[in-house]
Amino acid sequence: MSEPHHVIVGGSIAGVSAALAMRRHGFDGALTVVDAEPLIPYEKPPLSKVADPERAVRPILPEERYREHRIDLVVGLPVHRLDEVRRRVVLADGGELPADRVLITTGVSARRLGTPGERLANIHTLRTAADARHLFAALDRGGPLVVVGGGFIGLEAAAVARTRGLDVTVVEAAELPLLGALGPAVAPLMTRLHRDNGVRVVSGRTVERYVGRDTVEAVVLTGGERLPAAAVVVGVGVVPNDRLASAAGATCEGGVVVDEHGRTDRPWLWAAGDVASHIHPRTGVRGRIEHWDVAMRHGAAVGASMAGSPTINDAAPYFWSDQYGKSLQMYGRCRGSDQVVLRQGATPERFLAFWLRAGRLTAVAGLDEAKAVRAARAILDTDGAPAPETLADPSTDLRALARRMARSAAVPSR
Ligand SMILES: Cc1cc2nc3c(=O)[nH]c(=O)nc-3n(C[C@H](O)[C@H](O)[C@H](O)COP(=O)(O)OP(=O)(O)OC[C@H]3O[C@@H](n4cnc5c(N)ncnc54)[C@H](O)[C@@H]3O)c2cc1C
Repeated sequence: MSEPHHVIVGGSIAGVSAALAMRRHGFDGALTVVDAEPLIPYEKPPLSKVADPERAVRPILPEERYREHRIDLVVGLPVHRLDEVRRRVVLADGGELPADRVLITTGVSARRLGTPGERLANIHTLRTAADARHLFAALDRGGPLVVVGGGFIGLEAAAVARTRGLDVTVVEAAELPLLGALGPAVAPLMTRLHRDNGVRVVSGRTVERYVGRDTVEAVVLTGGERLPAAAVVVGVGVVPNDRLASAAGATCEGGVVVDEHGRTDRPWLWAAGDVASHIHPRTGVRGRIEHWDVAMRHGAAVGASMAGSPTINDAAPYFWSDQYGKSLQMYGRCRGSDQVVLRQGATPERFLAFWLRAGRLTAVAGLDEAKAVRAARAILDTDGAPAPETLADPSTDLRALARRMARSAAVPSR
């Protein structure tokens, strides 16, 4: 190989961030990003938030930026195999790219449950621009829409459909939508937001089968209830796209297992973003985190590490979700056993919640509370232990509290 060539498999936020970081940290060899989809790399989050499919597809970078950074893009061509012996990335059309190092940023795919009838037309999942185009076309034909799975993507799709005036039912197997992500104090507020906007939420039940001739006509729930459906969105979790990595001999356990710098146990293979199972320094727990901000930062850190500047992303995990024109934001991760403090005056339209573990702030979430959430994030960064009653008090100036806690964190204890 005349010059080193790094190949990034998966051209989305983790892969693109990694490519830019490699250049920023001095990698001067050849650099290629390959993606299965026939578009220049685009952002996934708008797909479930914007009612117009044209506005939903937003490039991560303008095309000229790739040229400026000498990043070759190969799009519309999946990688078929990674050949470690010959150090080759084999493409689906039989073409090959030499690669002294490969970064796998292949993300995740929508999980399918194998429910009878799930291959009927108008049953949608939502991961790609093509998925969004099909779903929007279905919404144009009108409802009712049944959303199976009350996670973030399903609820965002429900909000978009309601905003367009469709009749929407959300079916959630757990006691409430978002219970796992937000816990029993906050999840009811988000459920109320949907109910107040006219969504019917059916919880504690799953889908037994989909009914229809070629196209879905109804969803039959456990217990026998039959919901008429012109379209269905299924959002019941994801599976990691780790087939290439595992076929190439890398350990995969619920994702591609990597160390703190993104290395797999095959020396030429690295992984980042949603597909990577890593120990996040803030949580100390191994796993995948499927948030845009984490994928962006993890990709950048692994790209820097591959370029010879070992870097670890230790920013508090962050995500947002937009529903009915409101933005839910969360920093940190909560557990069921955490103490939850809701700021007084919480409503389904606006709230702020804090999670404490052994007295220390571990997570904060707010709906339409961007400033307060940012201030609380600064408290999170101090690893401080604010008093629950101070957090619950709406008159507390969180920025001032963060400053005080940062000062006392800087003073060594006697
Ligand atoms: C509809 C939707 C809405 C979201 N909304 C939010 C949000 O509001 N907030 C938030 O924090 N997060 C959100 N997310 C999650 C966020 O977008 C992801 O965490 C992020 O995109 C992960 O980036 P990634 O680069 O790791 O993987 P992905 O974005 O999943 O990209 C993986 C890429 O790999 C490519 N690929 C896979 N296999 C191959 C192969 N064999 N060969 C070549 N290419 C391959 C795929 O085509 C894909 O482009 C949303 C995700 C979706 C789908």
